[in-house]
Amino acid sequence: MDDSNQIEEIKNRLDIAQVVEKYVPLRQAGKNFSGLCPFHNEKTPSFIVSPDIQRYKCFGCGETGDIFNFVQKIENIDFTEALEKLAKEAGVELKQYKKNPKYSKLEEINYLATKYYYQELKLNSVANDYIKGRGFSQESIKQFGIGYAPKYPKLLEYINKNRSKLTNQELVDSGLFVNKEGKIKEKFYDRIMFPIRSSKGSVIGFTGRILPTNDYGPKYMNSPDTPIFHKKYNLFAQYESRQEIRKLDLAILCEGSTDVISAHQHGIKNIVAPLGTGLTKEQLESISRLSKNMLFFFDSDTAGQAAVIRAFKLASELNLYPYATNSVPYKDIDEMLQKEPERMAQLIEKKQEAFSYIFSNYIKDKDLTELADLTSTQNFVKELLIHVTNPTLLRHYTEKIKQIGKIALGDDKSYNNLTEVRMPNTKGFLVKVDSNLLEKTYLQLLIYSKIRSKDILIPSRYLSSPMLREMYLTIKHSVRTDIADIAKLFESSPEKKLLMEEIIFRSTEMDEDIEAQLNKLLTRLKKQYLTRQQKALSVKIAIAEESNNSEETERLLTKMLHLTKLLKEVTHD
Ligand SMILES: [Zn+2]
Repeated sequence: MDDSNQIEEIKNRLDIAQVVEKYVPLRQAGKNFSGLCPFHNEKTPSFIVSPDIQRYKCFGCGETGDIFNFVQKIENIDFTEALEKLAKEAGVELKQYKKNPKYSKLEEINYLATKYYYQELKLNSVANDYIKGRGFSQESIKQFGIGYAPKYPKLLEYINKNRSKLTNQELVDSGLFVNKEGKIKEKFYDRIMFPIRSSKGSVIGFTGRILPTNDYGPKYMNSPDTPIFHKKYNLFAQYESRQEIRKLDLAILCEGSTDVISAHQHGIKNIVAPLGTGLTKEQLESISRLSKNMLFFFDSDTAGQAAVIRAFKLASELNLYPYATNSVPYKDIDEMLQKEPERMAQLIEKKQEAFSYIFSNYIKDKDLTELADLTSTQNFVKELLIHVTNPTLLRHYTEKIKQIGKIALGDDKSYNNLTEVRMPNTKGFLVKVDSNLLEKTYLQLLIYSKIRSKDILIPSRYLSSPMLREMYLTIKHSVRTDIADIAKLFESSPEKKLLMEEIIFRSTEMDEDIEAQLNKLLTRLKKQYLTRQQKALSVKIAIAEESNNSEETERLLTKMLHLTKLLKEVTHD
């Protein structure tokens, strides 16, 4: 059995509704099930599961996928892990999935390095004193695997002792060695070593903090980007904090690894930090799989405050919910926790929306009755709001400007245009007004009934939307009647695919006698069609009368009479 067969086998044996139900309470809604979306905050259910096509879709946040996507997302695991988990549930014996052998070698080197540095820490009193001075507990050292790279490290020896020979290229690719004119040298020495774990938990790199006895190199040094480690995508403690972030539905982002470890030690375990570079969109995107609520908890200096503005923009572009606070009067989280440990929990509790936070800070020393200050504030705010993709949030922020600053953005044309352009946002949580309800329900019932007899088919003109009409004809003329097969007919057109999903995921109650139900719908569609015709005709009559064209008026009135008769017949049926 090859890989794709195994996947099919698992999909056939498991029911998506049963798998989802372990995480999300579901209610029957017609042929589908609905529940509160686990991927965004909501009070009314817009998360729909369709057993017929074995897919789910949230009409609030746009999340969609199959059983594998669901488990990956909700457990925050990768595809292989989801496969293993579901294979177990399905009772499918999994042919061993091979990892990329190169990657696992590099992970192994980093794993051995973690063990080596960890052992070395116990042996070095200077490093130990430093760790004690920082207030790191034994538990933290264990949990994070904190270690020490000695002044004359013997990592290469240790690695060679523990596994068969590695090539120079492999050693360099691990990020722990450099090749200096053909000689392999260790990259880290006389540094406290903090392992960086992937979201799956394997060590992929290190942050090395210089010891006071060492005056070579920067204070913090990270592993370089390697085939398994990319600073742009990874965050410190993304693995250690993942469960708590999901549980509390809040991710705290701070500046450095020592802040993260101190916070964990004080019971705040939903916290991560970027790795020496500024926060990136990719990092936010990855952590947003656990929670869409982001609290930016940066240092109290100017750089820290500029970082909040940057973070707000990135988070807003990703349609997340950004919050902010800071460590004032303390330099950073670490110092605050040492001097006033209870303060951090209070600050988290009282977190401000990042927008209000930034705006209040900005206008603190401005006099908004002065034209120059007013204009610069308006420009500042407009520049921020360009990044807000969510129309509801955009309106909310505009309100805040009025409340906090007692100013409006003015009826500046460019701003108004901006809000209009930003409205159509696929990931936004504003649900579109549902149009063509009856027509979509008809198509859904037709698909589910699998009947294609003449009595339930309609003339395509009964459908007012051109796209629905096209799709109806495709379904009518296709030899396929299986629901999943029909869904596939529209896969090549993104618009039709979306519309098809919407049709299939409708929560229509289906009668035992689906044919009779279709018949009733057919009548209603006919009535709707005739009413539309009538309306169009009455406009034409008005125009003819206006232009005194009595002949034309006469002709149209006869037609209207006929239409009225038809409509009466339908109503009496
Ligand atoms: Zn959702």
